[in-house]
Order: sequence, then C-alpha cells, then structure tokens
Amino acid sequence: MLDPNTVLRGFSRALYSNWLLYKPDRILIDCGEGCATALDGSVGSVEKLFLTHSHIDHVGGLPTLLWTRSAGGQKAKPLQIFHSADDPFLAPLQAYVEGVRGLLSFPIEWCPLEPFERVELKSGWFLDTFPTKHLSNGQSLGFRVWERRTRLKEEFIGRPQSELDALAARGEIGAAKEAFDVMRAAFCGDSLPVEADLVRGAEILVHEATIFEGEESGPNHSTLGDALRVGSEAAPKLLLLNHLSRHHSKIQIETAIREHAQTLNISGAVWILIGDEMTQVL
Ligand SMILES: [Zn+2]
Repeated sequence: MLDPNTVLRGFSRALYSNWLLYKPDRILIDCGEGCATALDGSVGSVEKLFLTHSHIDHVGGLPTLLWTRSAGGQKAKPLQIFHSADDPFLAPLQAYVEGVRGLLSFPIEWCPLEPFERVELKSGWFLDTFPTKHLSNGQSLGFRVWERRTRLKEEFIGRPQSELDALAARGEIGAAKEAFDVMRAAFCGDSLPVEADLVRGAEILVHEATIFEGEESGPNHSTLGDALRVGSEAAPKLLLLNHLSRHHSKIQIETAIREHAQTLNISGAVWILIGDEMTQVL
C-alpha cells in the first residue's frame, strides 16, 4: 500500500504555513514558516524550490531557509527558485532576497515559469506546471512530477524471451522498447478545484481542502467536497488533502470525508496532512 510518508514530508495549515518536500528528488514545494527548522541539517540538500504562489503562508520560511543554508555543510550549492511569471505577491520576497544576496554563501537563480512549462529533474525525471485558480490578479501554478520509464512495444509483448535476448545481444533491444511517462505526484497548491484532466492518473494527488461546504474562507479556495470530487474524477492512487482550516478538528474532518465518500466513487486512498502529520482516512 502506498504510504505518502515514504515520498513526502511537510507541514500544512491554512493561513499559517504550507510546504512539502518531495523526497525522491529533494525538491521543495512552497516554503512556509518553520520549513528550515523542520528540515534542519538537510536544508542544503534542497537545490530546487517551486513556489505555487507567494502568499505569506507559502513563502514565510524562505528567509530562514536562506540563512540556515548559508551556514550549513553544503553552503556553496546553488539554489533555484521557480515561481509563476505572473505572481503579484513575489516582488516583496524578491526585494528581501536581493537585499541579502551578497551576504549569502551560495548563488540564487530566479526562474519564472508559465503554465505548461517543463523543468528537468534528476536523471529521467521532470516536472511541469499547470494553471491553478487562486489569484484574482495573477496566475498561480500547480506542479506535476513525472518519471520517464520504458516498456516493451505492444508488438513485442508475448514474444519468446530468447528472441528478446537475441535482440539485446545484438544491441538492438532499444527498437523493441518505448518510453512512457508516469505522473508520480501532482501538487495543486491553493486553488479552486483543479481540472481533473490535468492531474488524471497521478499516483499521489495533493489538493487543498480549506473549508467545509457553505463556509466563507476568502475567495478562491476549495471545499472538502470539491477536493474529494476532483479526487473521484482524477482517480489518483492516493489523494492527500492539505491546507485544512484550523477551525475544524481532525475528527470533524475525518467524519466529513467519510460522509462525502458515501456519495462519490473514490477508488484510491484518502489521506490528510494536518500540521506535520499525515493520516489515512479512507
Ligand atoms: Zn494562497
């Protein structure tokens, strides 16, 4: 059974702090308050930070991340900060970083991204962006992490192993194989419900669920029911709900998820991230 703790670590509470470390690639998705404190000695291993948008609960931990990274064991490693090219809240953060850049021990590169842009990760893996619906005056982004794998072409499936071995011996096995991409994880950040087609087939889908139905939360967030409907349509192996409001207890959230699930066809597991704790609900 897929356990998100094997690939993810993070913290989430709406309004306060949100961040997730995707362990296979050591990439950081957002950088809320407390991120560097939690990562402790491993802050230096993060070389790519991806910001869904620059609201303070998603970027408030960046100053500390920079300073602790500068004092750590891998202090010369460059840091790339990927962000939406159209993020109206980025400027104050950039002003801070530019103000201290000369005092830090490592180079920082700002990398603006549009929706549907691709970034190469470690060997064979890549990330691409998709548009989310959170900012009324700009474009927030979601991120999909893909692994490129190879498989036998259809016409070679079922052929005798001796035939494939002969191809391999002649150095021609490549002709029998094709590449395909597996969406290992999709991170939606803050958003109204994302389009299920954009994240369909993700192994792990992280979607926000800020409020219960009928509640006010400020604009452009998803309800618990919205997030579960996206999960039902996109059919990930595992749906992880985050950005939950502190106004509901864990028990209330778990009960509400089970009630919604009775009217939805949810094929995969459902987990919640509250604070730094990931818990399976379904
Ligand atoms: Zn936000």
